[in-house]
Amino acid sequence: MKYDVLVVGAGLAGSTAARLLAEKGRKVLVIEQRQQVGGNCLDFTNESGIMVHQYGPHIFHTNNKSVWDFVQRFSSFNHFQHTVLSFAEGRFIPFPINRDTICSVFGVTISVSEVRGFLNAEVEKATFNSPPKNFRDAVVAQVGEKLYDLFFKNYTIKQWEKDPEELSAEIASRIPVRENRDPRYFTDKYQGIPEHGYTAMINTILAHPAITVLCNTDYASIKDDVQWKQTVYTGKLDTFFDKKYGELEYRSVKFDFETKNMEVFQPAAVVNYPNDYDFTRITEFKHFTGGKQPMTTICREFPSAQGEPCYVVMSDDNLAKRENYLTESRRLEESGEFTFIGRLAEYKYYNMDQVIESVMNKISLNFG
Ligand code: UDP
Repeated sequence: MKYDVLVVGAGLAGSTAARLLAEKGRKVLVIEQRQQVGGNCLDFTNESGIMVHQYGPHIFHTNNKSVWDFVQRFSSFNHFQHTVLSFAEGRFIPFPINRDTICSVFGVTISVSEVRGFLNAEVEKATFNSPPKNFRDAVVAQVGEKLYDLFFKNYTIKQWEKDPEELSAEIASRIPVRENRDPRYFTDKYQGIPEHGYTAMINTILAHPAITVLCNTDYASIKDDVQWKQTVYTGKLDTFFDKKYGELEYRSVKFDFETKNMEVFQPAAVVNYPNDYDFTRITEFKHFTGGKQPMTTICREFPSAQGEPCYVVMSDDNLAKRENYLTESRRLEESGEFTFIGRLAEYKYYNMDQVIESVMNKISLNFG
């Protein structure tokens, strides 16, 4: 069989790439090692009628209108606005840090106009590198040591199994600090959950006459029977190059699901547990869809070095190796034969919208 493009991986990156290429008139073969498409966006309705996310909470949020318009073509979305609570000092506290968090932690009553001054006084008392050299510095520079110790330090150690001083300051930019009372985790203009789930959305993305999808299929099993001109690769970056510059760390998570005989388990879709227990957070899925089922399904997350890759690990060591690999992957991209996209292949801590944006950019650059 002859194809124009082979796409390796049918997660969000590979599926989006396949669709854009098909719409440009290319004949595309998508191969996927797993038994189904969707990658780590995989979700399904469980025996209690609750839509659960197999690989942790996925909330779609973006400020990019073209990305939002793209996903709207394949699914309608509800208007879910994500909020998170942090369980600290024995109670649920709004997170990320906003005016109400400060009032709760310090037992003060301040107005939103006093928050900046309050945090400045906390930062004055703290010791850190300025400009920030690492994750700890980046957080302490914004909120001081008490809030860092309460909400960030131990969560980060659990999540990454590293000292926060070994991790990139860039991770801190994922978590805003707010002077107002906005309790939302994300404030992007467009936010929601696909009405029928991510798996359904990705199946619709792939449903195009010019796209063939083969699951349970790896590269070795097709390479002698199929011909193609260009490859889009979404697997692990170091694996592609036989780990010639050393192994890149990918962090995994053990997802521990439990269905409980109660209507509601916790007051928000996600509760973070920075200091208590060995899990980082608990997700209660029915909040995403406003489900009214008599039972509820929750998932505790235990970060792990073993298992399916979920995260890239932003330490100096990994980021230095990444640069070596990217020098090679860029060279291959310039040759026109290969395109590397997604969390695993670009070794980037992307959100879903950033994956789609990257695919859009790379497909238009590399395929005209
Ligand atoms: N983080 C933290 N405390 C929290 C939430 C996040 O210290 O309560 C830090 C932690 O290092 C985490 C990073 O911020 O890995 C990014 O958090 P995010 O919620 O974006 O993680 P994700 O949803 O991608 O797992």
